[in-house]
Amino acid sequence: MKATILKKMAKKVIKNPKRIKGYVDNYLGDFNPKRININNIIKYKTFFPIWDACQIEITSFCNRDCDFCPRYSDRSGVRKNENGHKVKKQMPSEKVYDIINELEKIGYRGKLRFGRLSEALYDDRYVEFANYARSKDLYLKEFSNGDPLKKNLKLCAELDGVLQEIVIGLYDCKDENEICEQKKWFIQKFKKTKVSFSIPQKNCLFRQGSKVYVDYADKKKDVALLNPCLSYEKRYLLIRYDGEISLCCEDDSCSFKVGNVFLQSIAEIWWSNRHRKIIHDIRKKGGKMKYKRCRECYVEMEGFNL
Ligand code: SF4
Ligand code: SF4
Repeated sequence: MKATILKKMAKKVIKNPKRIKGYVDNYLGDFNPKRININNIIKYKTFFPIWDACQIEITSFCNRDCDFCPRYSDRSGVRKNENGHKVKKQMPSEKVYDIINELEKIGYRGKLRFGRLSEALYDDRYVEFANYARSKDLYLKEFSNGDPLKKNLKLCAELDGVLQEIVIGLYDCKDENEICEQKKWFIQKFKKTKVSFSIPQKNCLFRQGSKVYVDYADKKKDVALLNPCLSYEKRYLLIRYDGEISLCCEDDSCSFKVGNVFLQSIAEIWWSNRHRKIIHDIRKKGGKMKYKRCRECYVEMEGFNL
């Protein structure tokens, strides 16, 4: 492993000591007693552990069009059509319930959110799904751009306590005063739910599909492509609104063809030979270079100011 990669890892561990667990997982293989499920070992004959967090995307829609977001330049019909108009589709309700029921059957009780590259709180069914997920002991941590909450105080009240956590993006604040004001407003609306904030403009990454990815091409040249991929220190089960599985947060086009939960069970997909092979490949030095998406991925870089 190159010294520069080790230095970057050391820096990140100093900033956030919890990351050490992810690095140990990545480099010492699949065996991790805390994340091992005996039934799955017997059934799928592998130590490949379950995911750390899950996202079930209930809608394709987002009201915003942020230039740092991977949605920005999509013209494939997933986020925007060929004319650049937003696609507005929902995951059918029965599929959302089926997925939650399957998570319960597998024994998953961890983190769940209903948004991905979308604003889930604009979906009228949100509160109903959130209550159902809580009845299955799932931990709800949602992310929002805050707009649906500002316009709908009833929604804030309905979500307070149902969500264990909410992370709100503060995208429009012009100065620190405005940031403080916004934070105060949201914190007052949630008495039981833990509220935190993200300010992507202060921690921007080159995400594929974003305008920033193209516009900052010069800056990108200075960024070392990390090899192997370190983003797998956290494993996510990412389900797009049409049932397709994304391998990682940088794979909104689902280009790794891992599977579709409308056609197969989650367990079949997660513990499939194909999924395990891709993960083993990208963890090895040089292995990620087999995949086009990974060859062009800068997501492990340090964030920068826009
Ligand atoms: S960053 Fe969030 S709010 Fe902005 S376009 Fe993407 S999903 Fe929407
Ligand atoms: S695209 Fe490849 S390199 Fe980038 S985060 Fe995903 S798996 Fe890792």
